[in-house]
Amino acid sequence: MNADVVPTQESTEATRYWLGVALDVPLPGLFDYYAPTPVDAGTRVIVSFGRRQMIGMVAQVKAAPDIPPEGVKAVDAVLDDLPPMPDDWMRLVVFAARYYQRPLGEVMLPALPVSLRKVTGYTGKGARGGPVARVDKSKRKVAVVDAASAAPVQLNPEQAHAVQAITGAQGHQTFLLHGVTGSGKTEVYMHAAQHVLAQGRQVLFMVPEINLTPQFEQSLRARLGNADQPGLLAVLHSGLADGERLRAWLRISRGQARVLLGTRLSIMTPMPDLGLIIVDEEHDTSYKQQDGLRYSARDLAVWRGHDLQVPVVLGSATPSLETWHNAQRDHYQLLSLTQRARAVQLPQVRLVDTRRLALEHGFSPQLLDAVKARLAQQEQVLIFLNRRGYAPVVSCNSCGWVSQCPRCTAYTILHRTQGGRAHNHLQCHHCGYHAAVPRRCPDCGDQDLRPMGRGTQRLEEHLAEWFPQARISRIDADSTRLKGSAEALFAQVHAGEVDILVGTQMVAKGHDFAKLGLVGVLNADAMLFAQDFRAPERLFAQLMQVAGRAGRHAGAGEVIIQTDYPEQPVYQALLKHDYQGFARYSLEERKAVGLPPFAYQALLTAEARALKTAVAFLSEAAALPDTAPELYPTSDAVTRYDPVPLRVVRVANTERAQLLVESDSRPALQAFLTTWSADVAALATRHRVRCHLEVDPLEI
Ligand code: ADP
Ligand code: ZN
Ligand code: ZN
Repeated sequence: MNADVVPTQESTEATRYWLGVALDVPLPGLFDYYAPTPVDAGTRVIVSFGRRQMIGMVAQVKAAPDIPPEGVKAVDAVLDDLPPMPDDWMRLVVFAARYYQRPLGEVMLPALPVSLRKVTGYTGKGARGGPVARVDKSKRKVAVVDAASAAPVQLNPEQAHAVQAITGAQGHQTFLLHGVTGSGKTEVYMHAAQHVLAQGRQVLFMVPEINLTPQFEQSLRARLGNADQPGLLAVLHSGLADGERLRAWLRISRGQARVLLGTRLSIMTPMPDLGLIIVDEEHDTSYKQQDGLRYSARDLAVWRGHDLQVPVVLGSATPSLETWHNAQRDHYQLLSLTQRARAVQLPQVRLVDTRRLALEHGFSPQLLDAVKARLAQQEQVLIFLNRRGYAPVVSCNSCGWVSQCPRCTAYTILHRTQGGRAHNHLQCHHCGYHAAVPRRCPDCGDQDLRPMGRGTQRLEEHLAEWFPQARISRIDADSTRLKGSAEALFAQVHAGEVDILVGTQMVAKGHDFAKLGLVGVLNADAMLFAQDFRAPERLFAQLMQVAGRAGRHAGAGEVIIQTDYPEQPVYQALLKHDYQGFARYSLEERKAVGLPPFAYQALLTAEARALKTAVAFLSEAAALPDTAPELYPTSDAVTRYDPVPLRVVRVANTERAQLLVESDSRPALQAFLTTWSADVAALATRHRVRCHLEVDPLEI
């Protein structure tokens, strides 16, 4: 029985045990209930809330309720199908709720697999595994020396040093493993993981995406598992069915599985013996959740590692500037891999200045020649397109009309297929609005409507005309909408059944194409001039990553970037594969104007029917601290900017505006936000405005 539990004196009937229960409802605070028997914090309960029954989690065991005891309801049931959630998990969700300014219940419950938070969900039938704490740890030592046969690799001195530093860490240390693609970072993760497993501890291995790289999962299984331990590895990502997700979650939280390979959501999984956290491609924006609890799984990984006193490894060829800055000021320990692991040269990067060139459907003669040459040598070619800059809109050739979404301030984009079948239609990428392509211009009636800009589909068509012998395949969000189709397409490329691959961001990630000799990059410039201050950083990372696909195995790889702005620092750094130079330049620039990582930000976004309602709400929200300055002791250290309309103001008939608050002190900003978020929530209710607060926003 928990020592905090004090039965009430007044109770005339049976003894009551008072509980603070977290519920997944958009209201702050915990809700008082009582149970007839003692209940530990971290236990799930079924309660009546309003007219509904819900699953809640006991967050607090209390001596007395906050409201008069006669108004407190009993819980309908205490669920004992699982042991209570462990303390360290409770600390993690409490921290996340506080840091990201969300009600605890909206963090705790969504962190569980769906069936554990539905009243009619999990019954525990056949899945009972006993309390995590009682599992005998001595039985779980993993004989990793069987597994080593799958790893004939002799670490080079830099890799060996990195593995030594990670496995030799006393308590917590965050490491930044920095090395270009192919420098052998994965090899370092594997060795460090094997060491930790051999000590009887668990490993959390986070990757930005799993669906796209099944080979990676296979090689991890082969390396870290062995014949006696088929269940050693558990995998978690949002693409799993509820049942699969629950099973993986149970196996890892009971300590039966020893390695968790997962996407961002896996950071919230209880792991009784967690001994190492790896965050691969730590700069990837997929680690940031974009709705609900807008957390950074990378940042929570660092917090969790610190809380548990275990090492955390952040790996990247192009670390985020936040992480790089932390390494520069010795908050993180930098481990560098400066060479490609195999005797393969880095690809040669060429910039093609397109200012005075006649392009043919977006291709420079240089790029077309290079494609021809590579195909003649039986090598593969990747044509990479930055989707953002290349959205094909339909326009009228005589009056300039452009296809626009009637519900948003955005253009609708031409799509030529749907679900794998040919089907011309227009679609809004913000709200999903669909429409047929008009036969004639709605403004002037002219029939000469044409796509403007080039999407991946049009590139594919032109390439097919120029290179009729080549087998061309396109990989983007459209061509891979069907489940399993991405895997199938990638498998074709790996099997050498594709000569030219046309693709977007999806192809840049994680793949190791043995025969790829040339990467051509079209229209990267669009991203250079995006309003977002992180755009150049993202462009650099993306181009480094896609360049890393070329020449990984044999021969000299080549990257051709077409640009109107070859003198830009981003491109000059890419020429030399010079991440450090780029980072130094960018950090100086950020410091001069006081942007992250030299400032900490939070963004309040409001949605209303009319923009002026949203803006009026934000103005009032910005003024809240002035009406009660005593509640905002750090407000002097926090800058509140003016509300601004969003770039895409209108989405699905609501209009949006945002307000940025900023401080050069994280604690000052946090103290401010704690009071402000509660005041803002109350104000939003009065104004009937929907809003959300995002701490450490990635896009502003
Ligand atoms: P990264 O994760 O940095 O992109 P990988 O770990 O995938 O790099 O390594 C790239 C390639 O080099 C892989 O095929 C890997 O097997 C190989 N490799 C890694 N380390 C070594 C080494 N020490 N000796 C030989 N080959 C290595
Ligand atoms: Zn027209
Ligand atoms: Zn729209």
